[in-house]
Order: sequence, then C-alpha cells, then structure tokens
Amino acid sequence: MKLIPLPAFSDNYIWMLHDARRALVVDPGDAQPVFDFLQQSGLQLEAILVTHHHADHVGGVNALRERTGARVWGPARERIPQPCSPLHQGDRIDVLGVGFDVFDVPGHTAGHIAYYAADITANDDSAPVLFCGDTLFSGGCGRLFEGTPAQMLASLDALAALPGATRVCCTHEYTLSNLRFAQAVEPGNADLAHHVAHCEALRKRLAPTLPSSIELERRINPFLRSRLPTVVRSVAQFDPSAHDEAGIFAALREWKNGFR
Ligand code: ZN
Ligand code: FE
Repeated sequence: MKLIPLPAFSDNYIWMLHDARRALVVDPGDAQPVFDFLQQSGLQLEAILVTHHHADHVGGVNALRERTGARVWGPARERIPQPCSPLHQGDRIDVLGVGFDVFDVPGHTAGHIAYYAADITANDDSAPVLFCGDTLFSGGCGRLFEGTPAQMLASLDALAALPGATRVCCTHEYTLSNLRFAQAVEPGNADLAHHVAHCEALRKRLAPTLPSSIELERRINPFLRSRLPTVVRSVAQFDPSAHDEAGIFAALREWKNGFR
C-alpha cells in the first residue's frame, strides 16, 4: 500500500491509501485534488473515511461519491453528507483489506472520531497508521469548538497511548506555527529545537512535515505534555489561576489561541 497526503486548499491534507488499483481517502474537503490523482494514477476510489463534520473535511464527499460510487464512513454523532455508514467508539471496519479501529475523540467537535490501523504495510513500513483529523496536530491540537478541555485532554491521552511508532496523519500543515508556540512553552526542550530545524528544512522545499509519530509527539507536543512540571510552570505564568489537569490544559489551549 501507498500512503500519501494530497494537498488541498491552503494547508489541508487529504490522506490517501491505495494498492495501485483501489484507493481510500480521508476527509476530502475538496474533490478536485482527489479526482486528479485518481485519474493520473488509474485508481478506483472505494471508500471515504470522515473524521468530523467541518466543511474543509466533507466538502468533496458528495462529488466523489457520485462520480466513483465510493462508500462513505463517518461519525455516528455528526451530520455528514448522506448516505454515510455511522461509526462509534470500538467499531472496526475493513477497507481495502486493512482493519481500522474507531476511536471517539471529542473536543474539536462533539462527535469527532479517529481511525487506527494496527496491521498495515504502507510505503514499505509496517508501523501503525492513525487518521486523527483535527484532534491531534504535530506540535499542537485542534481548537475546542464543541468539546470541553477535559474531553480533549482525554481524547489526546487515548491517542498518546498508541504505540510510539504509529504514523500520525493529521489534516493540516500547521506544524511550524505549532512548534513556535511549543518553544514558547518549553524553551529548554532539546528534542523540540531539533525538530524545528528539521521541519523548517522540509517546508523550505514545500515538503509535508507529516506524518509525525506518537513517539515524537510525546516528546515535542505541549498538549500531550500538559502534566509535566516544565509545562505546568509555563502555563502558570500565562494564567496563575489554572490549577487541576483540565484547568491547566484549558489555559494552555487559551494561551495558544492568542499566540502570534
Ligand atoms: Zn475541523
Ligand atoms: Fe480542518
């Protein structure tokens, strides 16, 4: 299998998995980049996996379904273009011979789900693959539009507990701006400084900084590190009233919202 990010809009990625004959895509906010790639490569689109209801993730679903007959899967608790097979926490689906486990990851939206393939070989690599939509970004996390800080913290905890080698396929190229914020939170984090240099070189030649890995995110992402003393101390400078885990996480998210 091949795993590739198709760029869309200004900073979205539509992830595609294909076996040279059949393909699936995740969160096609725009149909055109998918059509173009399918045509160029002679692929048949079999399935569309949706993580949440935002337009930049579902905008291309109807056009793709109408033209290819692809089956659409999505979160049971959100309004996704119909027909869409509804998925809940704990469900497992088989697409292109790959098994995907479904996780509920509320926070960015109330019904947001993620797809996790433990057994997969893609790009000659057998590390698991995670499609996490706008829940986990490299160096950051999604904004809390519909969920609470406690929900987002629990969702990120669940993702952070996946095997370290897991390839994290996020839907946006936000890495460099996330890492600038991460450095403000943890100026002494050497792994972070190293990763910034790596990502700057990638972006200079317009290459994606993704997929990331769970192991890397545990070392550099302040939103997976909000209980560590260094992060707690930094957050206290931004908001001295933040105290429990959810409160510190909430303050960290607030800090990021206003960070330029
Ligand atoms: Zn979104
Ligand atoms: Fe998005």
